[in-house]
Amino acid sequence: MDIEQFRRAGYQAIDHICDYYYSLRNMAVAPQVEPGYIRRALPSAAPHTGEAFEKIVQDYHKLIVPGLMHWQHPRFFAYFPTASTFEAILGDLYANGIGPNPGFNWSASPACTELEAVVMDWAAEMLGLDSTFHNASGIGGGVLQTSASDSSLVATVAARSRFIRQHPNVPAEKLVLYTTTQTHSLGKKAGLVLGLNVRALAVTAEDSYALRGATLKRALEEDAKAGMHPFMLIATVGTTSSGAIDRLEELGDIFVAVPSLWLHVDAAWAGVSMACPEYRDLCLLDDINKYADSVCTNFHKWGLVTFDCSTLWVRERKNLTDALDITPEFLRSTHGDAGTVIDYRNWHLGLGRRFRALKLWFVLRSYGVRGFQRYIRQTVQRSDTFVSLIKQSAHFRLITPPCLSLSVFRLEPPARSFDQGQLNALNRAFYACLSARQDVAFTQTDLNGTICIRCAVGAERTEEADILQAYEVLCEEANKTLDAWDK
Ligand code: PLP
Repeated sequence: MDIEQFRRAGYQAIDHICDYYYSLRNMAVAPQVEPGYIRRALPSAAPHTGEAFEKIVQDYHKLIVPGLMHWQHPRFFAYFPTASTFEAILGDLYANGIGPNPGFNWSASPACTELEAVVMDWAAEMLGLDSTFHNASGIGGGVLQTSASDSSLVATVAARSRFIRQHPNVPAEKLVLYTTTQTHSLGKKAGLVLGLNVRALAVTAEDSYALRGATLKRALEEDAKAGMHPFMLIATVGTTSSGAIDRLEELGDIFVAVPSLWLHVDAAWAGVSMACPEYRDLCLLDDINKYADSVCTNFHKWGLVTFDCSTLWVRERKNLTDALDITPEFLRSTHGDAGTVIDYRNWHLGLGRRFRALKLWFVLRSYGVRGFQRYIRQTVQRSDTFVSLIKQSAHFRLITPPCLSLSVFRLEPPARSFDQGQLNALNRAFYACLSARQDVAFTQTDLNGTICIRCAVGAERTEEADILQAYEVLCEEANKTLDAWDK
């Protein structure tokens, strides 16, 4: 493809993307394809001779689009929506279009590092993070990662390295990473990758699935007696299943008393809501600012930036670089040697890194803090509408207090008497009906043995009418499920 062919194909691609967004509302949310459908449709090897690009694009529309889940659809309420914006799409286009493998060292593409350091400070400021987390502090700082899982892994590497430096005689097999039973799978994965013991601390329905200080204290005492060495807790502000917020205000004193214990706050989904001052207390921002060694949120979830854009801040950047700085001769540079610049390769696991700061910059500038806040508030408002419908309903019951734009409920008709096992079976059947629908998407979860359904509002295009429509679908499928149950 030459430059002029690229120009034509590029304009066409943008036209297709615009048409996609115009028609999105009328499309099915969920695909209906069978496993292996692409393998059956494609030849078993790449073509010997190159094909016309128009033909490749035709096949994209014929084969790929029908197999896509439409995450930007206004009736997508599954997982956590990943709001994307045209600004972010263009940011990726510019970043990929110019094609560097940038930013691992400042000198490898100075604009990439310079911009990342600044927009990470803008984002920190917007969320209310303490100035110690800002790059401008020269002590702490922020770095973009691919995912919250990578952010946690990087934080765990830094925490382990700090602990080992402080306690050189502790054998590796005695180290323990604390999570809770509600922590995202990223906790277990960090343990798996790093060969660490992971202890998932218990949380209860009475505490709305949040970790309490007494539980952490008891675990520390038990582990001390057993000769184990907990070195880190991954706490969550806004768990995946129910939006639970671990009680950092109760945990804080423990972190003060045990300074070798690293606190990582995974606020992958809820963290961006701290852009709105009214949600900061709920997200325990003051406690994050006082006690967290590291904190992460995903702008690629509820933050208007197309995947990937996970923001990780650390209180002391030295903990990252002490753990991750490996500098062979070919990676040395004048400014790096002098320590006058950030070399982001020492703040993450890989070497090469995408220019993700560009799309975050585009979004923050184009929306402004006010526009960003308006979007967050709008999604919470839509979720509130959903919650009020569930509360008034004869079919459904909220299982936990709603958190921001996430609510968790289940089919539980009050006029009928079901035991817990039957209710779980009923809700599994209900979810099977729901997931067969193409016009809405929800996910189910299990909260300490209670099977329930999650509704996460996040798409910018979700309107009140979409919430009403989704609720009607729920009622229709609930009736069907109950009818089938009675037969
Ligand atoms: N943490 C929480 C609380 C999440 O809800 C999720 C995903 O939904 C993650 C972490 C994982 O995010 P990522 O896909 O960026 O690793």
